[in-house]
Amino acid sequence: MAGDYVIIDHSYDVVVVGAGGAGLRATLGMAEKGLTTACVTKLFPTRSHTVSAQGGISAALGNMGEDDWRWHAYDTIKGSDWLGDQDAIEYMCREAIPAILELEHYGVPFSRTEQGRIYQRAFGGMTTHFGEGRALRTCAAADRTGHAILHALYQQALKHQAEFFIEFFAIDLIMDAQGVCRGVIALELATGEIHRFRAHLTVLATGGYGRSYFSCTSAHTCTGDGNGMALRAGLALQDMEFIQFHPTGIYGAGMLITEGVRGEGGYLTNSEGNRFMEHYAPHAKDLASRDVVSRAMTVEIREGRGVGPSKDHLHLHLDHLSPEVIHERLPGIAETTRIFAGVDVRRDPIPVLPTAHYTMGGVPTNLHGEAVTLRGGDSNSVVPGLMAIGEAACVSVHGANRLGSNSLLDIVVFGRAAALRAAQIVKEQGPPPPLPRDAAEPALTRLERLRYAKGGEPTAMIRERMQRTMQDCAAVFRDLPTLEEGCKRIAEVYQHFAGVSVSDRSLIWNTDLVETLELENLLGCAITAVESARNRTETRGAHSREDYPERDDRHWLKHTLSWLDASGKVSLDYRPVRLTPLTGAMKAVPPQVRVY
Ligand SMILES: Cc1cc2nc3c(=O)[nH]c(=O)nc-3n(C[C@H](O)[C@H](O)[C@H](O)COP(=O)(O)OP(=O)(O)OC[C@H]3O[C@@H](n4cnc5c(N)ncnc54)[C@H](O)[C@@H]3O)c2cc1C
Repeated sequence: MAGDYVIIDHSYDVVVVGAGGAGLRATLGMAEKGLTTACVTKLFPTRSHTVSAQGGISAALGNMGEDDWRWHAYDTIKGSDWLGDQDAIEYMCREAIPAILELEHYGVPFSRTEQGRIYQRAFGGMTTHFGEGRALRTCAAADRTGHAILHALYQQALKHQAEFFIEFFAIDLIMDAQGVCRGVIALELATGEIHRFRAHLTVLATGGYGRSYFSCTSAHTCTGDGNGMALRAGLALQDMEFIQFHPTGIYGAGMLITEGVRGEGGYLTNSEGNRFMEHYAPHAKDLASRDVVSRAMTVEIREGRGVGPSKDHLHLHLDHLSPEVIHERLPGIAETTRIFAGVDVRRDPIPVLPTAHYTMGGVPTNLHGEAVTLRGGDSNSVVPGLMAIGEAACVSVHGANRLGSNSLLDIVVFGRAAALRAAQIVKEQGPPPPLPRDAAEPALTRLERLRYAKGGEPTAMIRERMQRTMQDCAAVFRDLPTLEEGCKRIAEVYQHFAGVSVSDRSLIWNTDLVETLELENLLGCAITAVESARNRTETRGAHSREDYPERDDRHWLKHTLSWLDASGKVSLDYRPVRLTPLTGAMKAVPPQVRVY
């Protein structure tokens, strides 16, 4: 390799890429088990997107009314529109209870009931008695739950002597000829040095790909980097077409207004002042599942009942809530709304619009966070050396639609599971074997190509075209003509990327170069998402096809797998959903009609 690269080698039992809730929970668990653990992160840990999670984390603690983890599992399966794997869902909902108590012991300052127990609020799709009553299941630290969890986990990871490599950008996995993952290559942003981490296990905890859309609630850094790395390593991604639109992003700004607002009694209205959710979900109303509420809002706007001069958004009210509830339970919302919408929530409704929020797709894994490879229907064989957790992974507990407050749960439960598994796998193995001399070559070749890219188009322009395409062609409602157009446009954008131009060849704090690396990752996510969406001719969860309005269990009760080759061609395959729970402790929930 030509060039001026300084390469620094490291050897650990485990290298975790990402320091959001998932990465930190895994890192601390692995370090606690005595494994030498490196955590590589492009952001300072407490700036990861987990920090902005507001509403809370679900667990059937039953602190404020009766509850049972089996009801939680039922709700999650129904919420997933039966695409979630029931063994993984059982594991997550059962483990939720000890996981929350563990977080409490780690120092998460949960809000409290008068009796001093962890406070729990209502959230969309969360019920008791298998759909009969309304559950109070979402544990909250006011409206800053993610912030509280992330800080507690970071402190715990430091306490257990995990080593952090902060503002290091992971470029690519190191894969050997046998398909074993041997570590990861990263660029240190402050020095421009290349770091080669070799490890028995590499864990992708890089978060979601929300930034493939123009308007989303995700941070600018949610660029699907781990998903891009997996695709380049020749691995499949799963269920990429399932992208959740949150009903209440602030109109024009995209910032999230947590579902916790509706959990505390907030409600939506249209231009006629009607609480329209009563019509679409007579039982759950404003607390129906997110896909259901987002679709209802889109229909209201399309039928001319939107608010504002362009009738293109709706109103969320909390002006009827007492100032104490707002002050104690939703202080951040009052502030965010004042800053980004200029609205005083005590007096006026918040202008809101469904906004891209959470990406259900990711690297397919088993219950232990181990990445699985599924080429040609070869079911569930593990990719040696590779794990994935959190929003970067697809285990799959959220299936076609995630329930609010189940993602913070997913990241801590499966972050912990990955740590337990790592401790079993890496036992007195000694240091990982040396890497082949050219182990950094593929990553450096890619870096070199982009660093010296002198095509005609700046990264920002290509990115915007991709984001507009996703927004126009793969949003709340989809049909064949728009998806065909989406596939065509995104393929063009993908080809345009060959002509990208990077303004500066420096390796030190070169944000243009980093954004270009991120854009390539996002493009991989976007192209697999639209191709997967075009192929799925049914409506399930967040994937709502106007030309195929029914769920079709006979043909589509299966996960999509997508691969991307170097020329930008996507190939698809499918694997069945696991409909059998893990143990006899709960009954399987066979597919039913999904009404709220
Ligand atoms: C505004 C908002 C509110 C939410 N509210 C809730 C809620 O109330 N309840 C709930 O359950 N869920 C909520 N969610 C969803 C939930 O917060 C996320 O799904 C979850 O926090 C993701 O955690 P993660 O650890 O997988 O990823 P993230 O927190 O996104 O962390 C990703 C990490 O990967 C690192 N990284 C990424 N790429 C690279 C790279 N190339 N090299 C090195 N490091 C890299 C980053 O530095 C970061 O540390 C919300 C999401 C948003 C956007």
